[in-house]
Amino acid sequence: MAFLSLANIGKIYVSEGNVAVGIRGVNLSFELGEFVAITGASGSGKSTLLNVLSGMDTYEEGELFIEGQPTSHYLQPDWEEYRAKYISFIFQDYNIIDSFTVLQNVELALMTISDPIERRRRAIELIERVGLKSHMKHKGSQLSGGQKQRTVIARALAKDSPIILADEPTGNLDSETSKEIVELLREVSKDKLLIMVTHNFDQVEHVATRHIRVFDGAVESDQTMIAPAVPAESTSDAAEVPETGKKDENARVSTLSNGFLLGRSIFLSKPKLSLFLCLLLFLGSMAIFLVTAFFGDFQMLFKKNYMFRKEKGRLVIIHQDGSGFTNADVEALREKYGAEKAVRVDYLFDIKDGIQRFASVDLSEVTLDPVSLSFDYDVDYGKPDLGRYPQSANEVLLYVPKYTKPTWDRGLDTPLKLAKGEFRIVGVKYYLDNTRGAVGVLTEDGFKAATTCQAIPFSVDLSLDGADLSDSFYGFMNPDLKENEIVVYTSRVGSDIPTDKLKLHVTVKKTRDDERFGDSFRWNRHNSYGGYGREVNPEVTVLDILIDNPITVQTVAENTSGDGEIVFGSGIAKQIYDAYADGVYAQTSLRFSSEGAAKKAAEELNKNGYIAVTTDTEYKPDFFETLELLLTGGFLAVVWGLAILFIAFFVRLCSNRTVLAFKEDMAIMRSMGIPVRVIRCGIYVRMLLALLPSIILLPIIAFCLFNSPRYDGILRYLQPWQYVFIFGAMLWITWRVTRKQIRVLFGESVKKSLRGGDAV
Ligand code: ADP
Ligand code: MG
Repeated sequence: MAFLSLANIGKIYVSEGNVAVGIRGVNLSFELGEFVAITGASGSGKSTLLNVLSGMDTYEEGELFIEGQPTSHYLQPDWEEYRAKYISFIFQDYNIIDSFTVLQNVELALMTISDPIERRRRAIELIERVGLKSHMKHKGSQLSGGQKQRTVIARALAKDSPIILADEPTGNLDSETSKEIVELLREVSKDKLLIMVTHNFDQVEHVATRHIRVFDGAVESDQTMIAPAVPAESTSDAAEVPETGKKDENARVSTLSNGFLLGRSIFLSKPKLSLFLCLLLFLGSMAIFLVTAFFGDFQMLFKKNYMFRKEKGRLVIIHQDGSGFTNADVEALREKYGAEKAVRVDYLFDIKDGIQRFASVDLSEVTLDPVSLSFDYDVDYGKPDLGRYPQSANEVLLYVPKYTKPTWDRGLDTPLKLAKGEFRIVGVKYYLDNTRGAVGVLTEDGFKAATTCQAIPFSVDLSLDGADLSDSFYGFMNPDLKENEIVVYTSRVGSDIPTDKLKLHVTVKKTRDDERFGDSFRWNRHNSYGGYGREVNPEVTVLDILIDNPITVQTVAENTSGDGEIVFGSGIAKQIYDAYADGVYAQTSLRFSSEGAAKKAAEELNKNGYIAVTTDTEYKPDFFETLELLLTGGFLAVVWGLAILFIAFFVRLCSNRTVLAFKEDMAIMRSMGIPVRVIRCGIYVRMLLALLPSIILLPIIAFCLFNSPRYDGILRYLQPWQYVFIFGAMLWITWRVTRKQIRVLFGESVKKSLRGGDAV
């Protein structure tokens, strides 16, 4: 049984309608230890024969036996394995990877050694053996032809395969170098089967053991020669060759680690191209980042609908029957359930609109989302960026997005109309998430006053000796006034009114203004508890407030600002607040130190006949709300998705060129018998390495952007999980692009991509 034999092998090329005979009816047997020289005219089929022997080209007729086993049923993976096990190939045009150093080129063939130190040691040893030690760190492109061929031979040695095929290895070398290469080949091929195509038989005559002549695709003659004596000194050298190091047992681990090493080498060996890929993927990432910042709002599709503004430790309570709470009730509840604080009228916590804009500050550059109000006893916003927390009823700290910074840098200490009261800005605290609503942080007194003015739908009547003078006054609180001071701005009453006879009536009316109730109203609407807020006492409540101080009447011209306004101090506001709370408002809030404490209290309260919920309670949106959400969110999702596809397409288009630069290198690796899965893994690793800078840079850039008030307002702030989204999209794109590259690279047979289908 011959080691390698061909039985009646034929290979036909069909291209563009032309049929060319590569080889036909070839019957040959080879044994280990032979040095076979093949000669023949150009186009006679020498290369074809070698390609078939190497498994790089398929054959159509006959049978190739390796160690007695037939191969005609082999598929691509079987040939890969065959090459990996048996074949080293040496070409006329060297085929080393130009962008790799000699060392890297040789190490590539030593992948079966898993220990990198051992691998390097072995590579250096082999490079010494072919006399290239001084050029170890040179790149392939910097070597002379002879040096390249030596590298290839070192590589073939590294593989330690039993068969070495050489296709005109000296074809491009001068005669002196050719001699050296032939000598080197003879030296290293002891015990192996070496088949060498040459057009200069004289060069190998002294070393060849056999001479095959090929003519027109067929074997013309096959002549065995006398084996030349092997010089003694090289025997010991050759004996070293077979021990290529221990084979790695764990194939998967070695695929990954080899793939990683390979990927890293590819990445580093072509710095310009790698930089281009990095840049490309960075641009892609930036584009996805921007697209997400502009259109990413579709994530509202997954948003939960909360009934209240989410606030840690707050518990909202109503009675089953919908009746109201008195001051004493609220205080008793607070004590019984161990709350830190009771907020009797909690309306302002939940409204998102209805608060007047910061009227007296130039807001031309600022568009603020609705502001809600809170007070500061337990809200930990941290140290203010500007100024301090409020201390009196007419002071406010603004908790606002950072992009509004330029406004507040100028605005500190200016008066601000919030709710229906004037407040002085004494502090500002910034946050980065510009999708959040701003908060005005007040003192508790300030909060009550604001509640009075904003939340309670009242109108103020002035009467003179029981006769109404007007019912169209707007009430405002001005904490700068004395507690019980009242100023009436009017053009209708006139300065001749005997002000000591004026009597102030405050009328609180029930309104059904769903809009103004905001989310909190929904509890009522969707759960039909029937006892929420102003639903309780639908009748008009009239409060007669006795005024000790005389009312100041300021006459103003008709249609000027202030006409029809009644402004009062915080004492009056408090009276209205209490009367309203007693008579109309049926919801109250307790505040606990933690959400857990609030949850525990809620359980008990519910057992004791109340309805109590924490602020993480969700409501089910109704049909129209859902529809609106689906339409807007769905539209944005489609736009986002299309943008991602477009970016993916763009990245793929740009990166296609980079494949061409690698086509030959990949084919060389394959011809060396490096498993496709390792190369594939390497290509993925390279692309992931190229993505790495983006993954590091993007959050840094985003952080800088959102910290810069100039750009922050333009882009929607992205939450950390949205970056996960972006990187997910980027990984997807990278994966697809890489897969495409791999398809391009491995779609053709090795020989085709190696030599462009051209026969030399
Ligand atoms: P040699 O190496 O002896 O010069 P080859 O084996 O390269 O010859 O070519 C043998 C024949 O096969 C030639 O006629 C050549 O034109 C043809 N041939 C080789 N490769 C291809 C190919 N990829 N497509 C079509 N014909 C080919
Ligand atoms: Mg040829």
